[in-house]
Amino acid sequence: MTEEKRHTVDEKSIVVVGGGISGLTTAIEAAEAGQPVVIVEKNAYLGGRVAQNYQYFPKMCPPTCGLEINFQRIRKNPAIRYFTQAEVGKIAGESGNMDVAVKVSPRYVNEKCTGCNKCVEVCPVERDNEFNYGLDKTKAIYLPHEAAFPFRYVIDMSVCKGSGCNKCVEACKYGAIDLDMKEKTVEVKAGAVVSATGWKPYDAKKIDTLGFESSPDVITNVVMERLSAPNGPTQGKITRPSDGKEAKRVVFVQCSGSRDRLHLPFCSSVCCLASLKQAGYVRSQYEDAEITMFYIDVRAPGKLEDFFTKAQEEFKINLVKGKVAKVTPKGGEIEVEAEDILGGGKMRVKADMVVLATGMEPAATIPGVVYDENSFVVSGAGSARTLGAGCAKKPVDVAGSVQDATGVALKAIQAMVRS
Ligand SMILES: Cc1cc2nc3c(=O)[nH]c(=O)nc-3n(C[C@H](O)[C@H](O)[C@H](O)COP(=O)(O)OP(=O)(O)OC[C@H]3O[C@@H](n4cnc5c(N)ncnc54)[C@H](O)[C@@H]3O)c2cc1C
Repeated sequence: MTEEKRHTVDEKSIVVVGGGISGLTTAIEAAEAGQPVVIVEKNAYLGGRVAQNYQYFPKMCPPTCGLEINFQRIRKNPAIRYFTQAEVGKIAGESGNMDVAVKVSPRYVNEKCTGCNKCVEVCPVERDNEFNYGLDKTKAIYLPHEAAFPFRYVIDMSVCKGSGCNKCVEACKYGAIDLDMKEKTVEVKAGAVVSATGWKPYDAKKIDTLGFESSPDVITNVVMERLSAPNGPTQGKITRPSDGKEAKRVVFVQCSGSRDRLHLPFCSSVCCLASLKQAGYVRSQYEDAEITMFYIDVRAPGKLEDFFTKAQEEFKINLVKGKVAKVTPKGGEIEVEAEDILGGGKMRVKADMVVLATGMEPAATIPGVVYDENSFVVSGAGSARTLGAGCAKKPVDVAGSVQDATGVALKAIQAMVRS
């Protein structure tokens, strides 16, 4: 199905808010069972945060493979409509019979775009690349990332010089750029609404002891994914953001702001495995790397214990049980001060780069959806009985998100059938 262009969707549908792996799964499973589905995605592309990862634990394969299979299923299925750069303005009515107002921002590039890149070559304006967490730049007209779906450019109008410049319009021989596109609101009839709005990284600036703001070489785990990715800002070379030197001594700080009443009181469930995986990224580039991971308890539930064991053996990580007290830049390197619970006493480690394993906090609150005290969706609550899927409901890995979202598809189908 191509991206939806209409102003109303009268066919009663399941509205899935969020087109990450959870939203895609619910949408595709429900559509393949014969239900009409509308996906509402805030970004200019589908796929969510998984698209920003370099590799997946436990298989250490690129996430684009799994996403591409889902995009193929969407292309083939006329029951799935989707809106990108879209958000829900309002949900009115009761479960089984709702009106959902979807606000769609203009992309300024239409479906005639072939991805030839001529527009980018002539664009004179640069902006921070949010896909790479601001570590590099894109032009004002840009492709969100190389495997983006839909594969179509987008203009950031907050920096574009508009028709006064017009260079991209003149360079596009397909007539794909329309600087006059306007925002629109689409009214959708819904039998069920699923919130799959996922997570955002906890803001490391709020943790004042871990040195995040004192050095560019103290990074977060999401940035580490982009630093390691071949399509990232360093073409996959793990180097220090401050000076581009090889980062061979790397310290991972677990529970950075997690399981902490002052920050996120819950465990994000994936950070230990993500750091073990990222230790693998470092080891694969630097045979002589010194990798230290400070942890409170390593959480690798169920079969993921095998991944933990494998990572310990193959990635040669110095695992230290103890909470990090302080991270301080000192003369071109970074000092990490921590307790060593099993060894006894305090420990100081010098590093080229420190990776803060920050947790996942819920990304969005949508009017009409019920949330708990930590802003996770309470599924099936309220008069609309909106459902939650994946990380919008609790922190969970990709396999868990897919499993949960598949079950949610059944709940949404039941609401449609009853209505
Ligand atoms: C550092 C790190 C590494 C990880 N590595 C792995 C790994 O190797 N293997 C693994 O299994 N798991 C990994 N995870 C976990 C994995 O990222 C999550 O399980 C996965 O992203 C959950 O998908 P989701 O669809 O629930 O949420 P998301 O990926 O966050 O997708 C949510 C979507 O909703 C959209 N959205 C948000 N708000 C709105 C709104 N208001 N309106 C419309 N759309 C909205 C977002 O733009 C996004 O597209 C990792 C997590 C971290 C922190």
